[in-house]
Amino acid sequence: MQSTVYLDNAATTKVSEKVKQAMLPFFDEFYGNASSLYVFGQRAKEKLEEARGIVAKCLNAQSNEIYFTSGGSESDNWAIMAAAQIGMRQNKKHIISTEFEHHAVLHTLKKLEKQGFDVTYLPVYADGIIKVKDLKKAIRPDTCLVSVMFANNEIGTIQPITEIGKICREEKILFHTDAVQAAGHVEIDVLKMNIDFLSLSGHKFHGPKGVGALYVRKGIALSNLIEGGAQERGKRAGTENLPAIYGMAVALEEATTEMSKVSAQEIKMRNKLFTELSKIPHSAINGNCNLRLSNNFNMCFEGIEGESLLLLLDDAGICASSGSACTSGSLDPSHVLLAIGRPHEVAHGSLRLTLSKYTTESEIDYVIKKVPEVGAYLRSMSPVWDQLVKGERKHVL
Ligand SMILES: *Cc1c(COP(=O)(O)O)cnc(C)c1O
Repeated sequence: MQSTVYLDNAATTKVSEKVKQAMLPFFDEFYGNASSLYVFGQRAKEKLEEARGIVAKCLNAQSNEIYFTSGGSESDNWAIMAAAQIGMRQNKKHIISTEFEHHAVLHTLKKLEKQGFDVTYLPVYADGIIKVKDLKKAIRPDTCLVSVMFANNEIGTIQPITEIGKICREEKILFHTDAVQAAGHVEIDVLKMNIDFLSLSGHKFHGPKGVGALYVRKGIALSNLIEGGAQERGKRAGTENLPAIYGMAVALEEATTEMSKVSAQEIKMRNKLFTELSKIPHSAINGNCNLRLSNNFNMCFEGIEGESLLLLLDDAGICASSGSACTSGSLDPSHVLLAIGRPHEVAHGSLRLTLSKYTTESEIDYVIKKVPEVGAYLRSMSPVWDQLVKGERKHVL
């Protein structure tokens, strides 16, 4: 059997060997409950706080500004609901976000709209980046929160976070960023960037699944998420998932240390993919090529149905995506690709490949050989492509 070429690292990543080894002692050596008073429990407590310190350091935050959660979705929900409560107390019920956020943000905002909040969704344009002038224009006296993702999960484009943070701080508006794709991949400094809330998730940077963190700037009144015990300063009850929390901390530290080396490696291979697969006629790169995560490739191919492409690539042992894992399985085209102006029929024909430190040159060469083959085969059977070839339909790419 051929080995699997895993190119869906925006969906999830493999736990690194170092992380795995760091987690193991928590199953048989340090399995105490961090809330217990005897030494065995306190040893777990020490490890928990060590993990908090590591995560804080990687973001240039303080330990008491880090809350552990079950992942990116929970962190996003918590941050937005907490900011909305603060807003409500000041009678401010306007939120600014973008059209291409992750559903963990979009669906939370939809919930708030039903509760009487007004949300402005900033456009993201063809390059996949919001315009700061649009943000400035959208600000109102009753704006309580701006939530803009650090880097997009489908097209990898990086948003002007420093500028957004500066504006929000000047206007005294809370600023949340979903940094789930960015953490461990690009440098983050919550102080310099004036970030008030930041979400991250362990499994997007070679840590375990089901664990994340929320950074909340000191002085912000964070509302409780789960009632019960005194864990997470009484704001999120429940015995801590220490193996995962510690694993995530080690993973973030490892990713931060290796960041420049891994990025350089990924950029080289990713750009080769762009160069070679752009040779497929009537194709286009989605989003800005430079202000972009180093591991993200995303292109549209006219006359190639995304789902079929994925199935045939799967047969060839290649794990790819046509959008986010959360939307695959539904027939709706990606909201991200529609937001950057791709027409419906083209948004269906997208291919996302996301690399990691484990991706090899020979894997990339294999993909560069396979995608055009599979693409040509699908076009040969496509009624849409047939119409395009006969001139009965106009090319959009
Ligand atoms: C993966 C992802 C999430 C969700 O994180 P989970 O840990 O899977 O809940 C949220 N936002 C973005 C941008 C993501 O890529």
